[in-house]
Amino acid sequence: MATVQTDRREFVKYSTLGILGLALGGGIVFSPYTLRAENRLRPPGAVDEKKFLALCIKCGQCLQVCPYHSIKLSDMAKGHGLGTPYIDADERACYACKAVPCVLACPSGALDHHCEKPEDIHMGIAVLEFPDTCLAISKTVVPKGYNDHMLAYNDSVTNITQLEIDLAEKFSKFEGEQCTLCADMCPIPNPISAIAMIPDSKGGKRPEIYDGCIGCGACQEVCPTTVASIVVKPRVTYEEYYASKN
Ligand code: SF4
Ligand code: SF4
Ligand code: SF4
Repeated sequence: MATVQTDRREFVKYSTLGILGLALGGGIVFSPYTLRAENRLRPPGAVDEKKFLALCIKCGQCLQVCPYHSIKLSDMAKGHGLGTPYIDADERACYACKAVPCVLACPSGALDHHCEKPEDIHMGIAVLEFPDTCLAISKTVVPKGYNDHMLAYNDSVTNITQLEIDLAEKFSKFEGEQCTLCADMCPIPNPISAIAMIPDSKGGKRPEIYDGCIGCGACQEVCPTTVASIVVKPRVTYEEYYASKN
């Protein structure tokens, strides 16, 4: 199953290129409104999107201090906010560092310095988007090679940190187990306030998300299904998303 995560990245990459190709081939021109429509994960402490785009000076300080290489700067293919920092949880999520150094490094106020610890982070909310593919629900064990993508990501960075090595080591111990990866890899200090595996009506288990979720995207990154079964909805609170479902 070494291709599991590669497939996901390729899927995302090629679907983006495919959409771009179709649009350009069809003579469609992206208006600023089209480009603005995409919501994305911003680094911890990011203020309201409109204000964020106005305040961010695209200096890249936040990404330089991130010990997990979680933050990237957007390019043309990513649409609006050229040069602004974002997090692609399919590749590398935020792992909620204790002192939130990305926020401390931000000189412009685009990342609010009131965000001082993991519990202050509110990037979005995790959602079990595709329960039909969740391995825990179907009682399928974690396949061989599920961690290849994390090792490959670590290999791709020039200055790998001890935290990244530790993360990959923790992540490497689940092969052949019933899948609880999203809950077990959740990085917040009290993960059971964010996510827990609960018994499912069909005899399996399923992840349940609670209001302690900070939307860091770790569950999305580590989910071993081809397209992550659990995903983070950026810029949405627990109340906004789940209250409407109850
Ligand atoms: S909290 Fe840590 S892992 Fe998350 S984006 Fe900031 S520096 Fe990176
Ligand atoms: S449930 Fe997922 S998004 Fe929420 S805090 Fe845990 S790992 Fe992060
Ligand atoms: S990581 Fe979570 S959501 Fe993904 S397959 Fe495993 S239990 Fe299901």
